[in-house]
Amino acid sequence: MVVQRIAAGLVESNQMTGELQFFPEKGESHDALLSMPADAIAAKIGELALAIAGKEPPTVLGVGFPGIIRNGVIEESPNLQQIKGFRLQAALEQSFLDNGAEVRVRVYNDADATAAGIAATRGVLHKVNRVWTLGNGVGFGRYPWAEGTWEGGHMVVTLDPKEHFCGCGGRGHLEGFLGYRAMRMRFLDLEPEEVFANAKAGDQRCAEFVTRCHRALAAATASSIHMDGPGPFYLTGPNAKWIDIGVLDRLVHEMVKMSPLQGSRIEMIPQKDDLGIIGAAVNAERAIAQFNRAAS
Ligand SMILES: [Zn+2]
Repeated sequence: MVVQRIAAGLVESNQMTGELQFFPEKGESHDALLSMPADAIAAKIGELALAIAGKEPPTVLGVGFPGIIRNGVIEESPNLQQIKGFRLQAALEQSFLDNGAEVRVRVYNDADATAAGIAATRGVLHKVNRVWTLGNGVGFGRYPWAEGTWEGGHMVVTLDPKEHFCGCGGRGHLEGFLGYRAMRMRFLDLEPEEVFANAKAGDQRCAEFVTRCHRALAAATASSIHMDGPGPFYLTGPNAKWIDIGVLDRLVHEMVKMSPLQGSRIEMIPQKDDLGIIGAAVNAERAIAQFNRAAS
């Protein structure tokens, strides 16, 4: 997983084995990746993967990365701008070959990897699992992995033209309500933590906003159900704690009424590095198995 830092782990039979390794290491500043050229980041990922695997190189490497990922290429990367357009999969496979190891690589959006990790650790790989990650932006992940863009955080949830706080600049987006950066731009006089605390204490302006946040997330969830069917939804990320699952669940039920679309449930999942690592590995292993079947 490459989010603020690189976190690497060895996965066998859908489970983590051994310790995670990090770059930069825990306790060190996160900023190292920001100033690193794309090929140096790729070399670092390859180095960590070989280090955690021990004597034998891994059979498959799955990488979770924030942004829009297509065919192993980072097409959009909000956090690490220098890697936009970089062919990460090809660069990693080549760096393994340079080290005498043949490792198949697959790259996934980090939220898709998290969705796969949750599905694998809960034993629900047979269902459509979706995850909202609430942090600086709003991530949307889905398992099983499917071709597509899936920028669920940018789903339009209001027609109000004054809603222009999304980091991408688009109007009416979910992230414009629930993204941390967007909240700071909306409440120039309050930090997001204060907004939610004030709402609890009865401040009307803050309470109205918190209600709208819940309606926005419910609307995006309902749209996903209408497009992709019912199933489990998970909430994770540093700001998931601000969402009241009971309220969200009630609002989703108000928005989804067709009987074949009933039965979704929403669950809070504590944020852990290893879910995304397990998920990236699970996705990559399945993709390579499928590729090998198609080739034979
Ligand atoms: Zn947006």
